Amino acid sequence: MRDLRISLTDRCNFRCRYCMPVEVFGPGYRFLPREELLSFEEIVRLARVLVPMGIGKVRLTGGEPLLRRGIEDLIAMLATVDGIEDIALTTNGVLLAHHAEALALAGLGRVTVSLDALDPQVFARMNGVGAKVDRVLAGISAARAFGLRTKVNAVIQRGVNDAEVLPLARWAKREGVDLRFIEYMDVGETNGWKLDEVVSAAELLEILGAEFELVAREPAYRGEVASHWAHRDGSCEIGVIASVTRPFCRDCQRLRLSADGKLFTCLFAAEGHDIRGILRSGSGDDVLRAAVAGSWATRKDRYSEERGLVVRPKAEMSYLGG
Ligand code: SAM
Ligand code: SF4
Repeated sequence: MRDLRISLTDRCNFRCRYCMPVEVFGPGYRFLPREELLSFEEIVRLARVLVPMGIGKVRLTGGEPLLRRGIEDLIAMLATVDGIEDIALTTNGVLLAHHAEALALAGLGRVTVSLDALDPQVFARMNGVGAKVDRVLAGISAARAFGLRTKVNAVIQRGVNDAEVLPLARWAKREGVDLRFIEYMDVGETNGWKLDEVVSAAELLEILGAEFELVAREPAYRGEVASHWAHRDGSCEIGVIASVTRPFCRDCQRLRLSADGKLFTCLFAAEGHDIRGILRSGSGDDVLRAAVAGSWATRKDRYSEERGLVVRPKAEMSYLGG
């Protein structure tokens, strides 16, 4: 294990159809109550235990992590943990302009902003709440202005935003921002995923290759999930995450911690291992270490490789942390 993804909340100010459809996550939906969330002290204690076990990178996610009050304090606390070399954040970006300076000062190194469309109507429809794309673009500018290394992720769904692939790629090249396209995945049980709505990595590359001169680059490390292409002029990179058409379970190095302290060894799992119970039981770090080591050692997750062959329930991505 190398990367730890920590969900700070299962709540979100967006209702992206592919993640939290409004028919399910409407006004009556019961999100986790405050007392069930791990405290910052609990998160940092776990991080300290995990570093000697191989974790060097931490990514804060959710739900929408910028909805968690005091996130900057958590980042500052994590930044003091010896061995954590990289602290990153994944966000929908709508609150980013407001937080960017404090995040950078606290010790955040990188931010990944989800941006699925530049067209204001398509963007507003996709986020389910009519949020304005300009606010996300302002968030990206602010993050860069305060020195945060910034990438953009776009999920492409056929018939929804496939016409946005080239406009997004042109914008990213113009701005010099690295952009990654993600195949629409069958995470959770609520998005009504259909295979024919997936725009495959191969199709994406065909669309991009018709306009841009792209040069493949070698993976930076084993288990890197995106395949990357550099623009020939060196301006920036385009990546494609083929999680559906080219699964990478075997090389997966990610451990995910849900906001209520369950450890998931796979994005497509139904159940996590309860770590909060151990954290709140008065047990020592040795017990914590043994529980994590045990769940990692016994993991048999190969969901993406078995897609279509085995049917089992899956937790929602907004809960276990994207
Ligand atoms: N709210 C934050 C955001 O949107 O960036 C962080 C959490 S979100 C669950 C993390 C990432 O998961 C986002 O980039 C989002 O686009 C992606 N995602 C959510 N549902 C997905 C799906 N069904 N297929 C592929 N990616 C998905
Ligand atoms: Fe919220 Fe991110 Fe899910 Fe969209 S993808 S609903 S922004 S958690």
